[in-house]
Amino acid sequence: MPVLRVALDLPLHRLFDYVAESASPEDVGCLVRVPFAKGERVGVIVEVVDASAWPLAQLKMAGDILRDLPPLPGDFLALCEFASAYYQAAFGEVLLQALPAGLKRVARPARRSGRTTNPPERTAPAPELTAEQSVVLGAIDLQARFSAHLLYGVTGSGKTEVYLRLIERTLATGEQVLLLVPEINLTPQLEGRVRARFPERVVVSLHSELAEAARERNWRAAFAGEADIVLGTRLAIFTPMPRLGLIVVDEEHDSSFKQQDGMRYSARDVAVFRAHQRGIPILLGSATPSLESWANAQSRRYALLTLSARANPEAKLPAVHLLDTRRMVLHDGVSEPLIAAISARLERGEQSLVFLNRRGYAPVLACAACGWVSRCRRCAANLVLHLADRRLRCHHCGFEARVPKVCPTCGNQDIHPFGRGTQRLEVWLQEHFPDARILRVDRDSVKSRKQWETMLDRIHGGDADILVGTQMLAKGHDFPKLTLVGVLGADAALFAADWRAPERLFAQLMQVAGRAGRAELMGEVLIQTQYPDHPLYAALVGHDYPGFAAALLREREQAGFPPYAFQAMLRAEAPEMAAAIAFLTTASALPVVRDHGGVVLYDPVPMKLSRLANRERGQLLAESHSRPALQAFLPRWREAVEAIKAPAKLRWHLEVDPLEF
Ligand code: ADP
Ligand code: ZN
Ligand code: ZN
Repeated sequence: MPVLRVALDLPLHRLFDYVAESASPEDVGCLVRVPFAKGERVGVIVEVVDASAWPLAQLKMAGDILRDLPPLPGDFLALCEFASAYYQAAFGEVLLQALPAGLKRVARPARRSGRTTNPPERTAPAPELTAEQSVVLGAIDLQARFSAHLLYGVTGSGKTEVYLRLIERTLATGEQVLLLVPEINLTPQLEGRVRARFPERVVVSLHSELAEAARERNWRAAFAGEADIVLGTRLAIFTPMPRLGLIVVDEEHDSSFKQQDGMRYSARDVAVFRAHQRGIPILLGSATPSLESWANAQSRRYALLTLSARANPEAKLPAVHLLDTRRMVLHDGVSEPLIAAISARLERGEQSLVFLNRRGYAPVLACAACGWVSRCRRCAANLVLHLADRRLRCHHCGFEARVPKVCPTCGNQDIHPFGRGTQRLEVWLQEHFPDARILRVDRDSVKSRKQWETMLDRIHGGDADILVGTQMLAKGHDFPKLTLVGVLGADAALFAADWRAPERLFAQLMQVAGRAGRAELMGEVLIQTQYPDHPLYAALVGHDYPGFAAALLREREQAGFPPYAFQAMLRAEAPEMAAAIAFLTTASALPVVRDHGGVVLYDPVPMKLSRLANRERGQLLAESHSRPALQAFLPRWREAVEAIKAPAKLRWHLEVDPLEF
């Protein structure tokens, strides 16, 4: 009797053998129902063989092979295998997390019918290419086998137009395109542009906000080769696409391509592997590429393509000025030159955007009499004051409490918000500009994609004079009447403990600055700072990403940080910090550690957010100057760590290429 080797959605690095009445090698990639423990599960057949390491009599009988869905293709299984090996994640988990939920259910409802059709969309003709766009497009050979390109293009330089042309050429040869974007609900504009350019084509989206049925329908369309273009967030990188001919990753530097829980992977990095595996081109685009990609372009592993000017010749890059707040009077954090600049925009009927990357009213509520501050009971973090609904809220675990009227420890009535967030800024601006229409845009005011679309419509409809917002406003939108961007509170990130903070700050400020002056109206960016001499700001004023990146890369090289070193992080969490640290200490002293000279393990330390939702968290960094050395070490280390006897309440995970510390 044939033996099925089946991958199940379990955190175990092994396959499970079952016998089947009849099965052939053609069933590899099919879903199958199998008994497991006391119940049944759906798994994926990875191999059909004649023998098992176990006595056949001990193997259970597999249930139905679900042949109504065609088998998952070999390249898709290989992609999951790569991700499993690279990220030290169980193969079954990688494979099954990639499938729509409905397919994995033991009792599967009859397949819901329904076709994927595009909603009618106004067609948009393609503009004439700029000279730079033509050069870029000429440099990409779609017939070539694997090639990786980094498209570095300033905001508004017409990167999207380059994507659309490449997509067009790829579709013309009968192939599918995968277009990855950071957060789908932040990019309805892009989706609209894609649909408008290709009204005859089937465009499907894949992201976590889709209802289950729609996601399954879209996934099936991609898998069946019916969808021509798949537009999705990071999870879409694991979509089987039989005719895949091109991958585009927009805003490739964005940290939302990194999954931070469950299976911790970088969709951008998996995308590069996938393109390599399939022998197709991949294009990574950004106005502020990640240093990893920039270094790859410098070393010519990626071809660097540049768009240095805005596509619309009328639209100039905004003038960036620093406001040295050490010598200025501030009104609730807002300087007089910024106030004057906003007033001027109001008079001219133009829009302003005030950027403050901190939502809520104030980051903390404090009592001056006894020193009480609003702390989260479950986390090592403050509760943020939200005056809009009078709540104190933990931005890490979601804990909420009512705003106390008096100090909970000393009864003092005089408790004060400390610092400021977007709500407080909005209140102040409204008091100062009573006739202005002010719109606050952050995760509190925009929770769903629908709300976001409504908000965008209002902004475009000229419904707002002043926008107050967090980084939600920074990404990829065109606001033609926006001519002023004011930046508050950016200094905090200059000296953050996280060595990636400057890279992120620069990208964020470049993005938000890029909102200004997208059309004929000249844009201006005013950055309030107490450190006007900081090189990061000098680079912003000069729109000098390459110079900034070169300086940061030099620093990283000297310090031996990525991309000049390769890292993996072992994290443990437990009710007590001592237990977490003890576990990590044991892990750092395992015999396998001594066998791998090329890998350095640092001391276990508490994480920056040392307590989250009542769990104390520690981490242990493993580092090597050689990727192969680290990759050779990790599976052996992981196996040894799995064998450590840990307290019942301790959880741990291993993250390869961690982004946050
Ligand atoms: P990016 O993606 O680099 O921010 P976009 O592709 O959104 O830039 O282009 C910015 C603006 O320039 C858009 O309004 C777009 O319609 C316009 N644009 C792009 N390419 C051209 C072109 N070749 N000719 C005229 N306008 C263009
Ligand atoms: Zn008090
Ligand atoms: Zn909390």
